[in-house]
Amino acid sequence: MLKTHSCGELRPSYEGDAVKLAGWVHRRRDHGGLIFIDLRDHDGLTQVVFNPKEAAEAYAVADVSRGEYVLQVEGTVARRPKGTVNPNLPTGEIEVRAHAVTILNEAKTPPFYIVVDSDVDELLRLKYRYLDLRRQRMHETMVMRHRVTKYIRDYLTERGFIEIETPCLTAPTPEGARDYLVPSRVQPGHFYALPQSPQQLKQLLMVAGFERYFQIARCFRDEDLRADRQPEFTQLDLEVSFVEEEDMMRLLEELHTGLTEMVRPDLKMVKPFPRLPYEESVRRFGTDKPDLRFGLELVDLTDVLRESEFTIFRQAVAQGGVVRAICVPGGATFSRKRIDELTTFVHGYGARGLVSVALLGEGGLDSLTQEEIRSPVAKYFTVEQVQAMARLAGANRGDMFLIVADKPATANKALDGLRREVGRRLELADPDMLHYVLIYDFPMFEWHEEDERWYSVTHPFTQPRQEELHLLESDPGAAHSRSYDLVCNGWELGGGSIRIHRREMQEEMFGILGIGLEEAQRRFGHMLEAFEYGAPPHGGFATGIDRTVALLAQQDDIREVMAFPKTKSATDPMTGAPAEVTPEQLAELHIVVTKAEEDAS
Ligand code: ASP
Repeated sequence: MLKTHSCGELRPSYEGDAVKLAGWVHRRRDHGGLIFIDLRDHDGLTQVVFNPKEAAEAYAVADVSRGEYVLQVEGTVARRPKGTVNPNLPTGEIEVRAHAVTILNEAKTPPFYIVVDSDVDELLRLKYRYLDLRRQRMHETMVMRHRVTKYIRDYLTERGFIEIETPCLTAPTPEGARDYLVPSRVQPGHFYALPQSPQQLKQLLMVAGFERYFQIARCFRDEDLRADRQPEFTQLDLEVSFVEEEDMMRLLEELHTGLTEMVRPDLKMVKPFPRLPYEESVRRFGTDKPDLRFGLELVDLTDVLRESEFTIFRQAVAQGGVVRAICVPGGATFSRKRIDELTTFVHGYGARGLVSVALLGEGGLDSLTQEEIRSPVAKYFTVEQVQAMARLAGANRGDMFLIVADKPATANKALDGLRREVGRRLELADPDMLHYVLIYDFPMFEWHEEDERWYSVTHPFTQPRQEELHLLESDPGAAHSRSYDLVCNGWELGGGSIRIHRREMQEEMFGILGIGLEEAQRRFGHMLEAFEYGAPPHGGFATGIDRTVALLAQQDDIREVMAFPKTKSATDPMTGAPAEVTPEQLAELHIVVTKAEEDAS
């Protein structure tokens, strides 16, 4: 090799050794006739000293070297003089006195600082991702990501799982997102879909008798991108035969506990992971992805305010809606401006408005007076109503209610958003805590008004609760599935379910979802048929590796933990993907592009 040691390796015990190092010029300093270069490689930094009196030629080369030049240095390890030891650097007690140096490659001035973690424009970072990845934080994150997948592989291997690859060119799956399609050259007019997940194939591996499968699998979903979504992402995909929900939830918990303790022993965790039935989670937090690091739980004021003088509340309740709120401790100090901002904020979630009610004054609530109720619509509230609200919420003087009256789903969505926003503004969530929670007892279906039909809450291969089979026909909306999700700090890390493994049940499920026998046969005939050849009871889950690493690395955006992510409009500024192709390529694929230019502009 061009080096004998890495730049993170040398310690005082190497004193006097002749070594060869190779790496990048991290920093270069001229000091009283000496040049100091911090040489950086994958493993760390080493200070190299160039003395014109000891090695004139090497000094001259060091003198023309610039940041990010690639150097090979030959020298001797020496202890640093007293007073110059750097306790923050693993190699901080030594330096290498250079005898010779070779410039292996020069470097242009990078478009942004590599050595400091400054804010850099996203596009620029992605265009020069190979430079962005040189930055310490990015480098450490990639190393952490490797440790995460290695831990998972080792953990599962020790428990009898085997990793099996499934194809990327496959048939569409009903995971609920739009497919990425790949045209077939040899089958004109036919398309592969990139997998949204290996769902069907992993189930078929259970039919094939593997019993314990996993894969660190790439998945593709053509969706609107957000901080926690990318067109392609990585899942830990897993399936086991002869299991029930409890087995899978325990596996999820053990795996993530061990993983967190290995990668981030410094972070807090609540053990055992709390478990919340779906309905309780929605009632208390407005969502099935609650951030449990802080309270601000939702309170239902419908009963207290159903007879309210305030028409908006009365009407909402009369139309089947709810009046719900969060109560912000100490919120009475919120300025009008802040409340206006929060009102605009809930509009973004489709809520019609936000009503604030603050409890002013001192003393017990029994002595509350009308004048001590501060609200733009204070006159519509009676003292008794506000006292009842306060009792429900455990509120005191100085606190403030933020109330939404709307359809239940809209109110929950708005209050979930509001709860997180207020939590963020008041810094209620401990950034050094990973608060995992398992959510279970999901409803089987949700009704979509647009096309007036039922959709699976998870996917059509999920088994309904056995004791509720009779509901499937009579009242599908009331049926629950055998599925579970793992959530952490408000992020859905993943989930799974016990699957259907009998043909009749699967056909019935497709029927409820509006997929007739003929279509079911055409799209999923392979699954239906496989279930007739001794399919074992089975279940599994998938969790997002990108999200897991982002949480462990305390990053808010999964792009920070992906080596080469896409922009929010699904492009790659570095390679230029997606790109136009030649007319010949299109012809070969039997594709005619219409309106490409207009659409792109
Ligand atoms: N295939 C599901 C998903 O990717 C997970 C599972 O049910 O195992 O969301």
